[in-house]
Amino acid sequence: MLELKKIESGYGPARILHGVSLTVGKAEIVCLLGSNGAGKTTTLLTILGILKPSAGTMVFNGEALGGCKTTEIVRRGIAIVPEGRRIFGPMTVAENLMIGASVRNEPAAAAETLEMVLELFPLLRERLDQLSGTLSGGQQQMLAIGRALMTRPQLILMDEPSMGLSPLMCDEVFDIILRIRDRGLSVLLVEQNAYASLAVASRGYVLESGQIALEGSARELREDDMIKEAYL
Ligand code: ATP
Repeated sequence: MLELKKIESGYGPARILHGVSLTVGKAEIVCLLGSNGAGKTTTLLTILGILKPSAGTMVFNGEALGGCKTTEIVRRGIAIVPEGRRIFGPMTVAENLMIGASVRNEPAAAAETLEMVLELFPLLRERLDQLSGTLSGGQQQMLAIGRALMTRPQLILMDEPSMGLSPLMCDEVFDIILRIRDRGLSVLLVEQNAYASLAVASRGYVLESGQIALEGSARELREDDMIKEAYL
């Protein structure tokens, strides 16, 4: 579904990714592990077209993404749940969700998608009129995932969705990721919590200094001595 080949990317003259190649299949959860500053967020921002690769190719559903604007990439079916959630605190839960829907400008479909999101997150249904800034961290994370789903993506990029959450809320987030996959969506998951992400993912990559240092099935990575020492 998504294929990156030899991507070089970064911030202006600062080259961060050096030839990153990875794939994500349909209805697959793939995790991207790596220490702080390895380039995980940079990879997600490049896929979404916020950063422009200086070399390499990106193909999504058989179509090249190179040169596409972010809005076009979202329309083609890629959404992001950004690091730190980035929900709009002074706006209500409903307004935050409708921002996701606004990318498509299809009111009838938006109502249907909203119903699907509220089925997945009953706690958001009870709080549609509440200001988002007054939600707990875990509730805000659910809202950020719900907002991404409102764009009706086929692939969701998630940047540290369990960060700062209680163990109970972390379990809920990983459970939601599995339920999203069960609905046929794909997830590229960036996580510090390697143990939990390798438990839900089918495959994973380890990024080190902007290069893929290791890749394999989740089982292979769980049993790898380097991974055990560095991340588990
Ligand atoms: P973290 O867990 O810390 O978020 P990461 O693997 O996601 O780690 P990135 O955020 O992709 O890492 O950062 C990779 C490198 O890019 C780091 O060296 C970082 O300092 C640098 N970097 C990040 N944002 C910028 C920016 N706006 N301008 C210049 N360099 C940046």
